[in-house]
Amino acid sequence: MRLSRYFLPVLKETPSEAQIVSHRLMLRAGMIKQASAGIYSWLPLGYKVLKRIEQIVHEEQVRAGHIPMLMPTLQSADLWRESGRYDAYGPEMLRIRDRHDRDMLYGPTNEELITDIFRSHVSSYRDLPLTLYHIQWKFRDEIRPRFGVMRGREFLMKDGYNFDLTKEDALHAYNRHLVSYLRTYERMGLQAIPMRADSGPIGGDDTHEFLVLAETGESEVFYDSEITDLKFGDREIDYDSVEACRAVLEEFTSRYARTDETHDPEVFAQIPEERRRTARGIEVGQIFYFGTKYSEPMGATVVDTEGKQVPVHMGSHGIGVSRLLGAIIEASHDDKGIIWPEGVTPFHVGIVNLKQGDAEADAACHALYDSLVTMGLDPLYDDRDERAGAKFATMDLIGLPWRITVGPRGLKNGVVELTSRRTGESEELPPEQALTRIA
Ligand code: ATP
Ligand code: MG
Ligand code: MG
Ligand code: MG
Repeated sequence: MRLSRYFLPVLKETPSEAQIVSHRLMLRAGMIKQASAGIYSWLPLGYKVLKRIEQIVHEEQVRAGHIPMLMPTLQSADLWRESGRYDAYGPEMLRIRDRHDRDMLYGPTNEELITDIFRSHVSSYRDLPLTLYHIQWKFRDEIRPRFGVMRGREFLMKDGYNFDLTKEDALHAYNRHLVSYLRTYERMGLQAIPMRADSGPIGGDDTHEFLVLAETGESEVFYDSEITDLKFGDREIDYDSVEACRAVLEEFTSRYARTDETHDPEVFAQIPEERRRTARGIEVGQIFYFGTKYSEPMGATVVDTEGKQVPVHMGSHGIGVSRLLGAIIEASHDDKGIIWPEGVTPFHVGIVNLKQGDAEADAACHALYDSLVTMGLDPLYDDRDERAGAKFATMDLIGLPWRITVGPRGLKNGVVELTSRRTGESEELPPEQALTRIA
């Protein structure tokens, strides 16, 4: 993409309404624009990152054997009356009436809708296990929408639902989700710690939240510092193996790590003092096992091996896809702007032409651009007629992992400058070597 033809409305001034750094940087980098309280338009740069995050979530869900689909944003109130949640959900639910006076709602989550799909089409244990998921917009009429996309009213969530014959099978699905979530967050350059949590309006007994440690996080968390040494890394895992998935759950939940809702000061006090941590965290996902809480009232049953009708065991599992943009920026920025992890960056490389219109510099930039595209990378070429300082400031703000700076002086010596956004280190190299370094 050539910057002169792109739509990147960066802001010079720091927007005063933004209280935290990720919100400020997303506004300044022209990623989002507020449409109304807690509702945002995703401008091209923000949309690109959102799509990359979504793609990672999809890939890891499919890898775990979960099946993608898409349910609507608007739902009929009738299903929610069956589960008893239409009244129980409270004012966070946006209720709508259509022209025929039917009660509708903008879905805050999808347990009822998916259970209805399941009961309409599945009747035998032979069709289990089954895990369906979608990535769809949700609406929750949050009392205090704030921090940009972190606490929006309209937000993008991946929500997945498992259907199993027994509690044991459903707990395997739970563990499988935990493993796939660890992989998902690490691919985005994030450490998200599974913590024992409270189940809230979804209901159920077993639940973990995934928290990214950050001062601006809305949750108070308590943990054993040893937990932050754990990495999933690039180990291979057989998602069908009950033992393998359980072992990962045990490893990652063996140290004390809880949100304030489940925090137990007495148990916490048993950890050696130097390892006790109290901090703040951003909830980027949550997994639940809730058994037959929805299948029973809604009649989602299957015939079991002995020919008996039994309600299925279920769980639901969410990732805050749009909130993740804010969480990643909170975890990865400096005073000049965003520092995108490679896994989610909107463009891989920025090319800065120091002398637009100079035949040699222009030609060198074009050649680099074409090579990067051939390598399968997505470059952003700043071909505007701007001062070098302004171009550097834009690149630093939008946070691409690499910058290649091209100017007539360097070209005379056969070199360009390659700069890492994360370390700030620059090197002068022949263009081909700069490309090999990035690849
Ligand atoms: P929170 O405690 O932050 O209100 P939640 O526990 O109500 O979140 P869940 O029902 O667990 O949310 O939804 C799954 C995920 O969706 C959350 O872990 C979070 O990452 C994301 N999410 C929830 N509410 C919002 C929101 N208002 N804006 C953006 N993302 C959200
Ligand atoms: Mg909430
Ligand atoms: Mg929560
Ligand atoms: Mg939650």
